[in-house]
Amino acid sequence: MPLCLPMIRHLKAPELFGPIDRLPVLGTRIGKRTFEVLNPSTGEVLADLPDMGVEETRAAIDKAYVAQPGWAGLTARERSDVLWRWHQLIIDHADDLAAILTAEMGKPLAEAKSEVSHAAAYLQWYAEEANRIYGETISAPSTDRRMMVIKQPIGVVGTITPWNFPASMVARKISPALAAGCTIVLKPAEQTPLVAGAMFALAYQAGFPEGVVNLIYASEGDGVGRELCANPKVRKISFTGSTEVGRLLMRQCSDQIKKVSLELGGNAPFIVFDDADIDAAVDGAIQAKFRNAGQTCVSANRLYVQSNVHDEFVQKFVEKVRHLSAGDGFAAGVDIGPLIDKHALAKIESHIADALAKGGTIRCGGNRIGKDGTFFQPTVLTEISSVMAVAQEETFGPLAPIIRFDDADQVVREANDTIYGLAAYFFASNLKRVWRVAEALEYGMVGINTGRMSSEAAPFGGIKQSGIGREGSRHGLEDYLEMKYLCMGGI
Ligand code: NAD
Repeated sequence: MPLCLPMIRHLKAPELFGPIDRLPVLGTRIGKRTFEVLNPSTGEVLADLPDMGVEETRAAIDKAYVAQPGWAGLTARERSDVLWRWHQLIIDHADDLAAILTAEMGKPLAEAKSEVSHAAAYLQWYAEEANRIYGETISAPSTDRRMMVIKQPIGVVGTITPWNFPASMVARKISPALAAGCTIVLKPAEQTPLVAGAMFALAYQAGFPEGVVNLIYASEGDGVGRELCANPKVRKISFTGSTEVGRLLMRQCSDQIKKVSLELGGNAPFIVFDDADIDAAVDGAIQAKFRNAGQTCVSANRLYVQSNVHDEFVQKFVEKVRHLSAGDGFAAGVDIGPLIDKHALAKIESHIADALAKGGTIRCGGNRIGKDGTFFQPTVLTEISSVMAVAQEETFGPLAPIIRFDDADQVVREANDTIYGLAAYFFASNLKRVWRVAEALEYGMVGINTGRMSSEAAPFGGIKQSGIGREGSRHGLEDYLEMKYLCMGGI
């Protein structure tokens, strides 16, 4: 049965994805509660899903635990083959998956298509990387010994994903885990479980053995999260979401010293130095700020522009921002979809009010669009200072605050003055400056003369309170492997 949007609009969960009844945890559903998934552009109910809790999570963990030795016991090539088939099915159904994503999350269809290809790219990457799990041999300090290191899968992994990239976060988390020989239980965000459900349905078609991939639909994360952290059969938690929930999960994992990978919030600085190509910096800022309506963890949250190019940058930037159109992600020519919910709308409004009260100026935007819904005008603020909430907290919306600066060393200190350390961007052309600033920025990822840097081939992740671990690249695979030292004597 093809995955297609009209089915989502008119049918309830069990009929949605054809093979969904083959998802093992749905077979062991215990409670009868359900929850609704809404289209944030229209408010319409897209689906009614089973609301699972602790018992279903436990059942899914048991399945993953039983399946893990068999999955790890396959050859790397056999695991890779299943990942390749899943990758191909995602490519074959890319349009349907993108439509589901736009319906439940709101982002423009073109962005949703690009996200689905990004998700597929992770599967491709880790289908290849599955064949490259290497150990090492060590020169022993005595001739009668042999010493080596082997890599083995961690075991069952509990994964929790956010709503802002509901397809690529699923792929980015579980493809390295599966490549490594781990089995997984995944709980997608309650706002966007449908594209995850569709991807899991395709995973079953791809031929993952029973119990290797398990999906939990739940209307909130607390109960499922507690069980994943407390259950000793789960050996690792991999979470993407807010720093607040990341902290909580880390605490909950501490009793068992359970391993954690955390991809958390950010407060990315975007610095334009006076030797930058200003047109390129404007384009980079549009990309880094307004992609996904500013709802990205790597969104340019604070724009610092050097005084002598400030007015030119602001004039060109505002001109482009005025031409961005906000609306239903299915409508032609839309650049910016809705915010995910009313809380997000309230946060952006409070950041604007705080900035205006402290001397900020609105250069464009600043208002909701329409009375209902969660659309917000792409907005630019100037005369911003570091005491304002907008410069200190992650806004997670289409709001660009611009801070003027003079001193190049001081701006790096200000850029680093945050608890977060995920992504930073800067535009400059002087090579000495490029190297010095790139090295001085305390961030896990730095974009130099670009507003976009996420790639399956590169390690994505943050330092400080933006997280622990990396996803993507060969480093992402290492996060799901244990190192074991073997020593043989008497040789
Ligand atoms: P969130 O932390 O509220 O929710 C994320 C997930 O955690 C959801 O699945 C949710 O159900 C679950 N959850 C909520 N409370 C929980 C609990 N008590 N126990 C266990 N799970 C729980 O975050 P959000 O609002 O959905 O996402 C936005 C945040 O995610 C932003 O801060 C953003 O920067 C961050 N993010 C980070 C990255 C990254 O790679 N670093 C990527 C995307 C989003």
